[in-house]
Amino acid sequence: MALIWNRSIDWNAEDWREVAACRNTEADMFFPIGATGVAIDQIESAKRVCNQCDVQAPCLEFALATNQESGVWGGTSEEERRKIRKQWLAARRRANATR
Ligand code: SF4
Repeated sequence: MALIWNRSIDWNAEDWREVAACRNTEADMFFPIGATGVAIDQIESAKRVCNQCDVQAPCLEFALATNQESGVWGGTSEEERRKIRKQWLAARRRANATR
C-alpha cells in the first residue's frame, strides 16, 4: 500500500533546519544509544532543547513523514514517535479518504 499524505507544513520551503535549536548542540544528546541508563538523561536533555525550539512542529512532522526511527525529533523519543506515528498515519488516511 502506498503511503500518501498531504503535508501541513512545507518543511523544505520554510528551511526550518536553519533555525533549529539543536544546530549547535552535541549530536550524541539527540541520538543516544538505547533508552536506559545514561540515555534517559540524554533524551530528557534533548527534549528540553526541543521544548525551546521554534521549529518543533515541522521537525516532528518531518520525522513522522520520513519515518525517522532513531533519535529525538520534535520533542519526542523513538518510543513516543512510534506510537504517535500510528495515530498520525491513521489521521492522514482518514483525511485522504474524505477528499
Ligand atoms: S525540535 Fe528538537 S530535534 Fe527538532 S529541530 Fe528543534 S531542537 Fe532540533
